[in-house]
Amino acid sequence: MSRQVDVPFLDLKAQYVPIKAEIAGAIDRVLQSQQFILGEEVKAFEDEIAAYCGTRHAVGCASGSDAILLSLMALGVGPGDEVICPAYTFFATAGSIARLGAVPVFADIDPVTYNVDPQEVRAVAGRCRTLKAIMPVHLYGQAADLEALLGIGRELNVPIVEDAAQAIGGRDAGGVGVGSRGTLGCFSFFPTKNLGGYGDGGLVTTNDRLLAERIASLRVHGETSRYHHQLVGLNSHLDALQAAVLRVKLGHLEGWHEARIRNADLYDEVFRAAGAATSASPLATGGLPLRTPSRPKPPARHIYNQYVIRVGAQIRDELREHLGKKGVATAIYYPLPLHRQVCFADLGIGEGELPHSEAAARETLALPIYPELAPEQLRHVADTVVEFVERHAPVSRTSSG
Ligand SMILES: *Cc1c(COP(=O)(O)O)cnc(C)c1O
Repeated sequence: MSRQVDVPFLDLKAQYVPIKAEIAGAIDRVLQSQQFILGEEVKAFEDEIAAYCGTRHAVGCASGSDAILLSLMALGVGPGDEVICPAYTFFATAGSIARLGAVPVFADIDPVTYNVDPQEVRAVAGRCRTLKAIMPVHLYGQAADLEALLGIGRELNVPIVEDAAQAIGGRDAGGVGVGSRGTLGCFSFFPTKNLGGYGDGGLVTTNDRLLAERIASLRVHGETSRYHHQLVGLNSHLDALQAAVLRVKLGHLEGWHEARIRNADLYDEVFRAAGAATSASPLATGGLPLRTPSRPKPPARHIYNQYVIRVGAQIRDELREHLGKKGVATAIYYPLPLHRQVCFADLGIGEGELPHSEAAARETLALPIYPELAPEQLRHVADTVVEFVERHAPVSRTSSG
């Protein structure tokens, strides 16, 4: 029997080993300074991220969830206000809206990119009475259709707040970095993101100086000068230790993005050779009933925080179990769309009302994609997937090609 190839979903130790000395130096610098909250290290990181994202300002905070919360607070979103967001995303997108007493208004997604569908946004906006913002999510590292969404925002005179938590370094159809075209861009440095800290961290980008100042004040309880408060804010700092770690990792980020893209290319190639449908043919029949992630055309750039395939709902969970037995860890992002969460039951959105979000929740599976994966690991994952899908839903050879 051949040797089992183990493939964890993510291997942060493999990323740490080659940068260990650099990280130790950065941490020691902070320890020598004994300045742990905000300060110069955080300021330097904010400047570097603003340059990386192509915005005038960047304001660090305690998490990606707080980045969203602070952004909405800075825009004056409060009780009863409506904010449109996709139904298929990480909970924090809608949770941060609800924490302000505002109402998340769920829009359905595009079934190919899994990003919010601008047509759906327009449709739900037409039913809103107190719409204050539209919050697209650049899901899995692929930019949402910002051009269309910015147009809708201008038409309705509401700001676009980009939830770019999964997509730092991603570029939209015009080749522009995510988090720079909307009024505000929200980033997370949770350890599993492409730029992950050694704990929680987040940041807001903007070109609007007044909003940047307001967020910088809101993150220190709304303080304007020492012990004087014009607004009620919260305690949400980016730690100097996290900033120091993130500054080191930012220097490696492009290389890590490229490695993820190379890994995605390899998966795509194996799946396509086996007859999988590509994103361009979402309803293709006659091939392998597996769909690879959608692949935006350059200058757009997908940074593959996740590589998510799609299979029939009847076999998704079995495929996951089978991969687990073969040593391959996978994940489901996300098994229950937000409009079906118990905490949002009072919004009264029934099963079937947002069908593309519901289908994605049943049919998608995220495969390991982290930069340090070895070619033999990638092969093992891809071959195991193909072999299982072929066995459970044989490839029809009637199609051409
Ligand atoms: C990770 C994530 C967040 C929240 O970030 P935290 O740093 O974990 O608070 C928000 N939105 C999306 C889409 C995310 O993936």
